[in-house]
Amino acid sequence: MTEFKPPLQDMSFLLKNVFDVQQLWQGIDALAEAVDVDTAEAILEEAGKLASGLIAPLNRSGDEEGANWHDGVVTTPAGFKEAFATFAEGGWGGLCGDPEFGGMGMPKMLGVLFDEMMYASNSSFTLYPTLTSGACLALNAHGSDELRGQYLPNLYSGRWSASMCLTEPHSGTDLGLIRSKAVPNAQGSYDISGTKIFITGGEHDLNENIIHLVLAKLPDAAPGARGISLFLVPKINVENDQLTTPNNVSCGSIEHKMGIKASSTCVMNFDQSKGYLIGEAGKGLACMFTMMNYERLSIGIQGIGCGEMAYQGAAEYAKERLQSKGVGENRDKSKEADPIVVHGDVRRMLLTTRANNEGSRAFALYIAKQLDIAKFSDDEAQKTKANSLVALLTPVAKAFFTDLGLESTILGQQVFGGHGYIREWGMEQLVRDVRIAQIYEGTNGIQALDLIGRKVAMNKGADFEVYRGEINQFISDFNAGPLAGDERLAPMFAKLSQSIESLDGLTKLILSRASDGNELNGNAVDYLNAFGYASFAYMWCMTSVAAVEAQQHSDNPYLENKLKVAEFFFARLLPKQQAYTTSIEAGVSSMMAMPNDMF
Ligand SMILES: Cc1cc2nc3c(=O)[nH]c(=O)nc-3n(C[C@H](O)[C@H](O)[C@H](O)COP(=O)(O)OP(=O)(O)OC[C@H]3O[C@@H](n4cnc5c(N)ncnc54)[C@H](O)[C@@H]3O)c2cc1C
Repeated sequence: MTEFKPPLQDMSFLLKNVFDVQQLWQGIDALAEAVDVDTAEAILEEAGKLASGLIAPLNRSGDEEGANWHDGVVTTPAGFKEAFATFAEGGWGGLCGDPEFGGMGMPKMLGVLFDEMMYASNSSFTLYPTLTSGACLALNAHGSDELRGQYLPNLYSGRWSASMCLTEPHSGTDLGLIRSKAVPNAQGSYDISGTKIFITGGEHDLNENIIHLVLAKLPDAAPGARGISLFLVPKINVENDQLTTPNNVSCGSIEHKMGIKASSTCVMNFDQSKGYLIGEAGKGLACMFTMMNYERLSIGIQGIGCGEMAYQGAAEYAKERLQSKGVGENRDKSKEADPIVVHGDVRRMLLTTRANNEGSRAFALYIAKQLDIAKFSDDEAQKTKANSLVALLTPVAKAFFTDLGLESTILGQQVFGGHGYIREWGMEQLVRDVRIAQIYEGTNGIQALDLIGRKVAMNKGADFEVYRGEINQFISDFNAGPLAGDERLAPMFAKLSQSIESLDGLTKLILSRASDGNELNGNAVDYLNAFGYASFAYMWCMTSVAAVEAQQHSDNPYLENKLKVAEFFFARLLPKQQAYTTSIEAGVSSMMAMPNDMF
């Protein structure tokens, strides 16, 4: 089984050369004080050791043992508790947390790279702290000072964990249907009652308390989504930082599922459990979106992590496995067979996976950069622009990265042939573990609806114009700059121009049909995919410019390989954008023609 090798060189190149974080961070006071490039690299190196040395070795055993439920008590697989204690002691739970409450205040650009290494090592383990970080974000943004002061330090430190309780048996995508109730009580808090299902980390044995963020409705709530409020409900009540009495929160069972078997997926029962309102009554969904947006990017990164691990395994195997003879220079006549890496189809699979991973990593960092500007910058215009980009691009990241993550893990498995299907090499676990990422945190179909409906049609393409304007400026700057005639870069930029023009035309077409709900709904996923490939063209141009510039001072083969992957992307993957565009242009009449009862 392949050992995880943290892709630190690529991460460092992206941070330093592509996104020039030294300059970015120096220009934002809060970040200039918190971090510089050397510190960032040291943190990533330590994170890589933690992920590969401590967390990755628990991946296979965790999958085999799974989380277990007995009489309401959930036990995580052997080694998880100890590993979590080390994780917590290292302060990793508060990496991007608010320093006022004991967090380290690091930029999200570091957070996404840390998350990627963790997911690559062990998706199940990583879900426990990731849910906690998302809850901290929502609590910090919308909770009262009292709640923040009481809970945040203990969540950042790993003394306690958190969960996100939205889903109910009859209410998944449509949260307006939830039935959980919140009744005001004499102590000024609320009695929360209801059943939530599919709750990740709803119960476990990693630490002493679990803080549930629960969506529920007040007795006089408006119908639908407008009536939802958000509550903090501890598993064990807390007073003056000490645990007191159990809070009538119980875990009825855990799910038996396809993958992420070491992550507990719980049925949670709340029976007049004491809860505290977070934010305003009736604004619960908006507050929860702070957590959900964070989790959406994080789940996208699960796709990258699993894809990276699949690539590492497949590339190593392809260089060793001898099958069939290669062609021309790729044929070693002294041997009976050549390593499968020489065969075109195997190279297609490896390069697709690598381009998926590296393109996604760059795009995740690009969005993280916008999140950092939105959070830390003092420049209002920059913040407004960054917020528009985050809103527009978060659904793209969640869905596109996880779709590509599944594609990459399947391709990685395919490179192994039959050996990818059996357990020994770990490839089938990656496929099983990444599959859920397309489903939870809002299915990828729902992400696509969010993009096409709320983020594009509802604001008449305003956020898209911000994004398109930035990319067009980037292309103009290139064309007026010293590398304009570069024989490798110029064709890439020509393709980027075409790609953005095509996406612009497609967006206008969507806007012109926006009054027809079926056109939006039926075209949403294809639009998101076209959007994803066009965005990756932007990322690959940015990355390639940085590689060509770096080659002026360095003959590091990494740089040449980066350009080769970029060229593969433009030649072999970007054309997919056109296929999605053609499908959308055909309209949805063929999709809506069949009567419902004929399915
Ligand atoms: C392992 C696991 C962990 C989870 N963790 C959590 C957690 O921690 N907290 C939590 O609250 N929930 C969690 N969930 C729940 C998860 O977020 C939901 O399963 C998901 O949002 C989909 O809801 P659903 O399963 O009810 O599907 P449904 O909402 O019933 O959807 C079924 C299908 O219909 C589609 N669909 C629905 N509405 C529309 C529409 N308007 N237009 C087009 N298509 C539509 C969906 O895309 C989907 O393909 C978890 C689920 C699993 C399996």
